[in-house]
Amino acid sequence: MRADYVSREEWGATKPTKKWTYLNPQRVQGIVVHHSGVTGGPTGATAVQAFERHHMTTRGWSSIAYNWLVDVDGTIYEGRRDGAVGGATKNWNFKTVAVSYVGDGHEPLSLEAQQGFRTVIDESQHTYSGGLWIKGHRDLASTSCPGNWLYDWVGTGTLLVAPPGAHVPTVDWGGLIAYMQALGAEVQARPLRRRMRGVKVRLVQATLPRWGCDPGAADGIFGWRTKAAVRRFQRECGFLKVNGVVNRATWDALFFR
Ligand SMILES: [Zn+2]
Repeated sequence: MRADYVSREEWGATKPTKKWTYLNPQRVQGIVVHHSGVTGGPTGATAVQAFERHHMTTRGWSSIAYNWLVDVDGTIYEGRRDGAVGGATKNWNFKTVAVSYVGDGHEPLSLEAQQGFRTVIDESQHTYSGGLWIKGHRDLASTSCPGNWLYDWVGTGTLLVAPPGAHVPTVDWGGLIAYMQALGAEVQARPLRRRMRGVKVRLVQATLPRWGCDPGAADGIFGWRTKAAVRRFQRECGFLKVNGVVNRATWDALFFR
């Protein structure tokens, strides 16, 4: 995370009892929001240390369960290491990032706390190339967590819209990837070869230069020059059949590597 946060070292985290397991970025689907449910409880490092004690001593977990915590004043605390598999959302820990509010999510969050959440969520979207969903813990388990107000706020989807000036890409990556995979299925049924035309050919032509293979103009017409560029790409890839035909394997190597 590039935004300011209080690191484990700074709040005095205890060494985990087990080595971190790291999330496989390809498998991360979403962000789960939690809360402490404690009104008027401790805040700051004291609160984060209390969570850690509760998770490690009472629950017997290897460390604090959340990846990130947002305090009532908006301060962000590092929980488990950034990118480590959390422990707060049973069955979902390997697929999600866990963020917890230090206070009681039944009550409205201060603007600062809302901004803290926004920052963690935007940064997580950035880390995992966007397209992550965001849910309250109660969507995935039988619990009232993260409290009614916080749950409703998460449900409005406003957190998924990057604020003006944010560096987060506004491209719908999930939709784009689904689209490219649907086209990939078409390519699997009917590989692209010389003399074919259309949008898939144009996408291939537009992408080849990224790999240092020049097909000429991206005109959507699969000519000799496109074929030569595809062959070159296949040869340099090393694991593809070099025949100048874009089959599914070549398509995936072009777009999903
Ligand atoms: Zn929870």
